[in-house]
Order: sequence, then C-alpha cells, then structure tokens
Amino acid sequence: MAQATAPKLYDVLIVGGGPAGLAMAVGLARQVYSALVLDSGEYRNARAAHMHTVPGFDHASPASFRDKIRRDLLERYASVEFRSATVTRLRRIQRAPASQSPSAASNTTAAAAVAPAAANEATSDGKDASSGGEWLFEATDEQGNVYTGRKLGLGTGVRDVFPRDIPGYDECWGRGIFHCMFCHGFEERGAESAGVLAAGMMTSADMLAHIAPMVKRLARSVTVYTNGDEDLAAATRGKLHSGKIRFDTRRIARVALAHPPKLHHHHHHHQDEEEDSSSSDDAASTAVTLHFDDGTSATEGFVANHPAVQQRAGNLVAELGLQVGAAGEVRVRAGPGNEAEGVDGCFVAGDMATPMRSVVKALEMGTFAAAGLVAAMNAELDARDEL
Ligand SMILES: Cc1cc2nc3c(=O)[nH]c(=O)nc-3n(C[C@H](O)[C@H](O)[C@H](O)COP(=O)(O)OP(=O)(O)OC[C@H]3O[C@@H](n4cnc5c(N)ncnc54)[C@H](O)[C@@H]3O)c2cc1C
Repeated sequence: MAQATAPKLYDVLIVGGGPAGLAMAVGLARQVYSALVLDSGEYRNARAAHMHTVPGFDHASPASFRDKIRRDLLERYASVEFRSATVTRLRRIQRAPASQSPSAASNTTAAAAVAPAAANEATSDGKDASSGGEWLFEATDEQGNVYTGRKLGLGTGVRDVFPRDIPGYDECWGRGIFHCMFCHGFEERGAESAGVLAAGMMTSADMLAHIAPMVKRLARSVTVYTNGDEDLAAATRGKLHSGKIRFDTRRIARVALAHPPKLHHHHHHHQDEEEDSSSSDDAASTAVTLHFDDGTSATEGFVANHPAVQQRAGNLVAELGLQVGAAGEVRVRAGPGNEAEGVDGCFVAGDMATPMRSVVKALEMGTFAAAGLVAAMNAELDARDEL
C-alpha cells in the first residue's frame, strides 16, 4: 500500500503493544501527547492462560489484561491510536527544514509545531543545529506503510529460544515446562514430584540451586536433570542441603506432555478484539515425561526450565545501533526515564530492556519511559517557547 499523503507526524511512535508499550501510551496520553502503537501481536506469554504477580489482576488471562488497558485508553484518551503492523525498518532521520510541512502542527494535540530551528538533539549529536531539520523516527511496516514520530518508544519484548537438543520442548513450553515459579506452579502445588531441567538460561550450579528450592515449595520432591553433566550435578548438590532434592544425570532424548491436551488451534487474532489465545485450560495436565537416551523415562508433575531469550525485534535493535548488555537487554541511561544508550529520543521498556522480565517490571519501565519522553518533549517545546 502506498501512502497517498504525507504520513501524520506523531509525537511518539511506540513499537510493541505488550504491557511495556501500553504503559508508555498511558503516560503519554496523560500529558496529551499523540502516540501510535504499532503491534504485531506476538506476546511473549501467549501460551499462558493465566497471569500472576500482577496485583489486582490475579489469575486473569494476559489477553484480557492487555484488552483492558487498550479499552481504557480508547475510551478516555483521544491522542492514542493503535495499529496492527509488523515494523520491519526503523530509522532516525533528520528532516530537511525546507520540506517541513506546516500541516504537521495540526496533527498533534500539543500543537508542537515543527520549528525552523533544529531540535536540541541535533546539537547534542554534534551536527550543526542551524543546518539541520528536526530529528524524527521513521518506521516502515511489512506492507510498506511509513509512520513518523518525533520520539520513539520501544517495547518489543523478547522471544524464548528453545534448546535445540531437546525435541518436544516446544510442545511442553508454558503447559508443563515453566520458566518462573511465581508465574506458574502454585496451581500444581503438592505434586508428588517436579523436575528442574538444566538447559538454556539454567545451566549454572548457582542458578539451579536458586530454582530447586522454589520448585520444592510446590512439590514433595524435586529432581534436577543435568542431561549427562555429572560435574554440574555434583556442584549443585554441594550448594544444597535438602535430601528431598535429587539429581539425575541421564542423557535426555526428548520430552513430551504426559497427557497431551486435545488440540484446538486458535488462529491469528486481531489485536483489537484479542481472544484468549492460550490452548491450555485449567483441567489440562502439566505432567511432563522425560525420555532418556537409555530408553528409560521419568514423569514429573511439572518441569522448571528457563530457555535462552533473544530480542524479538533484533533486526530493529541492530538497525538503530542500540547497545546490548550481558543478559541480552538493551542498555538504558542512568536515571528513571529509560532512554536508550547511544540513541537520543529512543526510550525502551519491558522484557527487551531488563533481565527482570515480568509484567509489573514492563509496566513500571513503560510508565517511566513515558515520563522520560514527556520530559524531553516538554523541554524542547519550552526551548522554542512553544509550551
Ligand atoms: C509462558 C509465560 C508465562 C508468563 N507468565 C507471567 C506471569 O504470570 N506474570 C508475569 O509478570 N510475567 C509473566 N511472563 C513474562 C511476561 O510475559 C513478560 O514479562 C511481559 O510480557 C513483558 O512485556 P513486554 O511488553 O515487554 O513484551 P511482550 O508482552 O512480549 O510484548 C511485546 C510486543 O511487541 C511486539 N513486537 C515485537 N517486534 C515488533 C515489530 N517489529 N513490530 C511490531 N510489533 C512488534 C510483539 O508482537 C508483542 O506484541 C510470562 C512469560 C511466559 C513466556
């Protein structure tokens, strides 16, 4: 689809409509800034039927939670718009002063007219402020539509990368393999036995010794499966005293749900009326069978494992030149606003920008990213005496 007219200039383009991006939109709406939320609808917790540790929304479905935030925004705040789209290209561009369209000013509630003088950022960028136009962000989606915003908010999340050497992991993920003992496990409490699988992010003795007691709170006994690694089993054993935490070093051939649910596929849903896309339900068994190389097997009430993660929008993170830290998180500047290191005007929040990946953290970061965006835009308006 070609753009017939010059695209509307939003105050902020938000890429990602999970808790992080939605929280950003809320903060911007409260200061009457316009925002467009571009969302491809691939939420990290799509497998989970119920969400926990979000006070006030205990055991709610993640889909209904996101839906509530969107409805609240649409009902009370006219400055926020939503669009289902996958952003494939994201650039920071400097608009030539000559091409500045006066109509841009009418697009924004805050009437932040495009000023002839360059924005402060241009100067901080080392460019000659008098020669350059305003710095903008330009996003292109997979259909070729182009969107522009003065600032950028990213809440694009991460994707879980399943261990390739353990067939069946995907089938069990979120249904019987659980990455977080606050998110899952309570509903299975009292299980005769539960497993801890050494793989992905959980491959150090410290990490296994941290997780195993959390699993023990929810099961009578715990077995740590180290998939052939005797040293890891010994090192982890050395960090724990409980005789109720056992170790099994058999090599794993594959894993499978012990009682697979009847499959009913949910097709891709439209984000405005997001359905509960989880295919699990309360009655579904979480039991997982581990099949070993030697032909034997073991069945556990559930299995704890955290896979590796990678940026869901890794292409955009690379294209913008964002810096990434040790846990794969986009690095932010000091201070509460979560402005990305190295890219002025780009604010980040949620799973993509922290190792503490949870809904409340995404909400917190998104809320403060909005505060950072508002502070930056207000300062620019004031500098031009356009507040
Ligand atoms: C199985 C499972 C269960 C979980 N349960 C809980 C729980 O009970 N409680 C809890 O606190 N946390 C839970 N979590 C963690 C929680 O899902 C995340 O912390 C939370 O979703 C992070 O929010 P976010 O907005 O950063 O990312 P997400 O919710 O993943 O949203 C990111 C959004 O960005 C979009 N996006 C990415 N790239 C693009 C692009 N190029 N263009 C357009 N859109 C794009 C995606 O489609 C997606 O909609 C769970 C995670 C998993 C895997």
